[in-house]
Amino acid sequence: MIELAFFRCDLCKSLEGGIYGKGPLKYLHSPQAGQCRHKWTRIGREEFTQLGAEWYAVDWSHEMPFWRGYTE
Ligand SMILES: [Zn+2]
Repeated sequence: MIELAFFRCDLCKSLEGGIYGKGPLKYLHSPQAGQCRHKWTRIGREEFTQLGAEWYAVDWSHEMPFWRGYTE
């Protein structure tokens, strides 16, 4: 199944999302993520992008076109 979805875990401040089943997918997991019993909340693409920059200092302008907001 192919689905565009984005998630956040507030317990360990991890993010993941993208196109499940096809890719691209991005996993932004904190050092605590390994011990976390994740409680994933589904979020929008905009929030994912924003939190990626805020929590992980991701510079989306250096990422592939998909992550810069282009859909294929
Ligand atoms: Zn977690």
